[in-house]
Amino acid sequence: MSTLESIINDPERRATAAAQQAKLRAELGHRLAQNPAQAQFLWGQAREQQTLDQLSALTAEDAPEMGEAALRGRTIELYRQLAEGYAAQGRYADAVAASEAGQDGERRAEYEARRDAVESISQARCEHPAEVVEPSPTDAKGFKRKVRTEIERVYDGGRVIAFLRCSECRAVSAEIVT
Ligand SMILES: [Zn+2]
Repeated sequence: MSTLESIINDPERRATAAAQQAKLRAELGHRLAQNPAQAQFLWGQAREQQTLDQLSALTAEDAPEMGEAALRGRTIELYRQLAEGYAAQGRYADAVAASEAGQDGERRAEYEARRDAVESISQARCEHPAEVVEPSPTDAKGFKRKVRTEIERVYDGGRVIAFLRCSECRAVSAEIVT
């Protein structure tokens, strides 16, 4: 049984996670909501809980009689939603597993890139320089252009992390903001 399946099929484990999340929301909710990355984190937690509950209901023996294809389609949809919920919390390894179960190769590749970037946080993930000098019509010295541009800020429950994408090779790097 995969880790995901064991989470979905273990009500006690889900209840513990829900209680921890409710506690965090109660303690920090007001403050968290002031920052877009942290508001997204809270949304991700709610998404995770809701989706796990729905997946659990689908896999229960008393699941409503759905056709096999409909059940399969719904399950894939829920796994994709679960992956979004994890990603919104900066839980990229979990998001990789959920998007794999949701057969979403494109998202999975992006979550893998972000997971790897967080593992080597504050280090550029490619060899390109931070800046390049482009020709300028008004300045003989040219102008400096940043090679890595920020694509998103994500809160992981402890840190706000900025993700940067290299304009030369698309590699994703991560930096700690706060
Ligand atoms: Zn690069």
